[in-house]
Amino acid sequence: MITSRAFAGRRYAVLGLARSGLATVEALVASGAGVTAWDDREEARDEAMALGADIGNPLEIDLIGFAGVVVSPGVPLNRHPIAAHAREAHVPVIGDVELFAEAQGQLPPHKLVGITGTNGKSTVTALVTHMLESAGVPTLMGGNIGLPILSREPLPEGGVYVLELSSYQLDLSHSLACDIALLTNLSPDHLDRYDGFAGYTASKARLFSLQHRDQVAIVAVDDDPSKMIASRINHRLHRVSAKDVDPVDQARWPALQGPHNAQNAVCAIAVCRVLGLNDEQIERGLATYKSLPHRMELVGEADGVRWFNDSKATNAASAAPALAAFPPAPDQR
Ligand code: ADP
Repeated sequence: MITSRAFAGRRYAVLGLARSGLATVEALVASGAGVTAWDDREEARDEAMALGADIGNPLEIDLIGFAGVVVSPGVPLNRHPIAAHAREAHVPVIGDVELFAEAQGQLPPHKLVGITGTNGKSTVTALVTHMLESAGVPTLMGGNIGLPILSREPLPEGGVYVLELSSYQLDLSHSLACDIALLTNLSPDHLDRYDGFAGYTASKARLFSLQHRDQVAIVAVDDDPSKMIASRINHRLHRVSAKDVDPVDQARWPALQGPHNAQNAVCAIAVCRVLGLNDEQIERGLATYKSLPHRMELVGEADGVRWFNDSKATNAASAAPALAAFPPAPDQR
């Protein structure tokens, strides 16, 4: 597990004890921090207690003196009372990714890649991880992809952490400075949690404003909002586009078909080039990548009909390119 002396002697509240919440409790306790944990479910509270946490609802206790309130990205900060309660006590509301960022200084020298965007985050995260692994680079993926990063064993020197970052996770991060930060695309989504599209865009743009001057930004500039974000970046920037992918090349990558996957591939290629992979290593990774479950996953074929599971397409901007991966063919519907 990832621990840090930076947390020792401090007290944190942890609200929400699903997998990443419990991993956070465990990592903080092992780091020598005091933890007050809460979940509405009794079984989850019992698990946290067994890990060494005190039980208490952060909404009902005085938070003055706490180093942070760790919430799950599922907590809607724009509506949930914890935001105001923490603000009154001058305590930051953070996520497990922020704790990882604070622990980074004590990990063996490594690189951190942060990946955000409306669509394609998981695919690019898994693809970059696969390309690095197949090139023999020690790597771990975490964040929104569902693997709590704090529960993993630290990588040896030279390793690469690849984090999928939702806008919610970015909202909960304050010291996250990615060596390589990537934006895949941007279209209206999650507007229930933001002050309009501008608020959502600003949340994504923070990934770049948190970077240091010597770090690298990569933006796929296939849509206007992403172009706008790229135009405001003042440090090293690579602009990429789905159009940069030659269809002849893409035909060799079975799990990366369709215009959306051309964009995902070009993003992953750019990340791996900055990390120093050569053409051959990159090609091998693209050709051997297997799609994640529920993303254009071929389920089977019956009566001449091929069935794909693309149930991870949860907005129009993701469903459309998945359909476009199958151009109309008179003999094939
Ligand atoms: P995320 O993690 O951002 O939700 P995923 O990689 O899980 O994205 O893909 C979810 C769905 O979005 C896929 O099933 C596919 O239909 C669609 N999709 C994937 N990549 C892109 C992209 N670059 N642009 C648009 N839609 C995409």
